[in-house]
Amino acid sequence: MSLRNTIVIVGGGFSGTVLAANLLRRPPEAVTEIVLIERAAAVGRGVAYAANPHEFLLNVPAARLSADSREPLQFLQFARRSLPHADSEDFLPRALYGEYLQELLRTAEGAAPARVHLRRVHDTVRRVSRSDGALTVELARGGGIAAHMVVLATGNPPPPELPFARQLRAHPGYWNDPWDLPEDGPAPQAVLIVGTGLTMADLACALCAPPGRVPAIHAISRHGLLPRSETVFGSTVLPGAAAALAGAHSIRRLLEVSRTLAREVQARGGDWREVVTVLRNAAPSIWRRLAQPERLRFMRHLQTYWDVHRHRLPPTLAERIATLRSSGHLQINAGRVERLEPAADRIDVFWRPRAAADTRVLRVDAVINATGPNYAVPTSRDPLIGSLAADGLIAADGLNLGLRTAEHGACIDVDGVPAKNLFYLGPMLRAAWWEATAVTELRNHAEKLAEFLAGGAAQV
Ligand SMILES: Cc1cc2nc3c(=O)[nH]c(=O)nc-3n(C[C@H](O)[C@H](O)[C@H](O)COP(=O)(O)OP(=O)(O)OC[C@H]3O[C@@H](n4cnc5c(N)ncnc54)[C@H](O)[C@@H]3O)c2cc1C
Repeated sequence: MSLRNTIVIVGGGFSGTVLAANLLRRPPEAVTEIVLIERAAAVGRGVAYAANPHEFLLNVPAARLSADSREPLQFLQFARRSLPHADSEDFLPRALYGEYLQELLRTAEGAAPARVHLRRVHDTVRRVSRSDGALTVELARGGGIAAHMVVLATGNPPPPELPFARQLRAHPGYWNDPWDLPEDGPAPQAVLIVGTGLTMADLACALCAPPGRVPAIHAISRHGLLPRSETVFGSTVLPGAAAALAGAHSIRRLLEVSRTLAREVQARGGDWREVVTVLRNAAPSIWRRLAQPERLRFMRHLQTYWDVHRHRLPPTLAERIATLRSSGHLQINAGRVERLEPAADRIDVFWRPRAAADTRVLRVDAVINATGPNYAVPTSRDPLIGSLAADGLIAADGLNLGLRTAEHGACIDVDGVPAKNLFYLGPMLRAAWWEATAVTELRNHAEKLAEFLAGGAAQV
């Protein structure tokens, strides 16, 4: 196969699908083959938008989830075809969003000019090798694809292995992947969820969904903080906010400015969430100018608080969680798990509440790891990320937030050199931009990368 204009996208979740759709819409001038490789049966879903027996909800209102910046209400319009009463502020099913992405790709494919062709490959990429500068994408089922450009869109990596759970790897009650829980077997009566974020909230509701089955759920994290509830809020023009934020070069100053802005908004009858939106939009430029010790300070002292204010619960989910808590079915604990011990087919959890001296013991049927994706390259359990790092083609950032990338997501190699033909698109961009996990940010990165690849970059 000729190397000329073969663009391989590894991973067909949100990022890979939206990038492919953009390339089909505005392809390079030369004849181009876009190869979209996805290991799962369906593209356009990834972990987030997979079809699931439980109806998980999007955590962003429908009107703010378009995958195309030119048509801000595109997802809402798509949703109304099956849910005619869907409102712009509704939190719709995540599986529906997967269907939307699939249609987005089909539409772009159908309208693409003849010189561009999309090839879908259902396989796992196990390695990307470089020889004399040229890249070959090696597939698990055998064979390789010579590529002019490769974009890694492998998404949310598996969660980290919990250090206190190593000896339970093979225990039937230890579930390390919260999105791949066993469907058969007896329903657990008592469950420990490690993590108290959005994933925990989803899992708690899913575990309690079947009628007549409400297990005792314990959730634990160091601070025991829950994500805040979403509300319907407008966008405020905050005069002076941009200048105040631009002038803040330390975390302490940023915190002061943010608190002042929140007080101002609330004094005007507004909602603190408006300030979080302002901060979120400014986050990439703030992050890029912060010195490394300041970034570290943020992660040590403020990230937990930022996360629970930034990544919020759909209101119905927040209400359900409040009900489960008030009925005693869900207990949120601040503390630390010290160790897990198998107790026949159950598990004994030894944990210590925050600031307490005593260790407590809890016997459960299942322990679920809901601590979130592990973006740290050195400890990643993603075999492709491991092989790329071992080959020196990618490098971790200094804070283990993701990958070192240059402009347009070009992967910076182990010697600090940005690649000309290997790019990354997805949540691990947060090492460079901080805010890079949600639809809006990833969509914008996908559009810019597509434009770059369709322009000079893809012309050999
Ligand atoms: C449970 C969950 C819910 C979320 N909900 C929202 C939400 O409501 N709103 C929002 O804005 N954001 C949400 N997000 C954030 C989410 O990160 C982004 O919206 C987006 O889905 C990320 O897309 P991605 O393509 O980068 O990653 P992923 O969706 O993880 O997709 C990566 C794809 O690559 C494939 N892949 C990986 N490795 C290989 C390989 N070696 N070979 C072949 N294929 C491979 C995977 O199978 C997967 O399909 C959610 C995230 C999660 C985990």
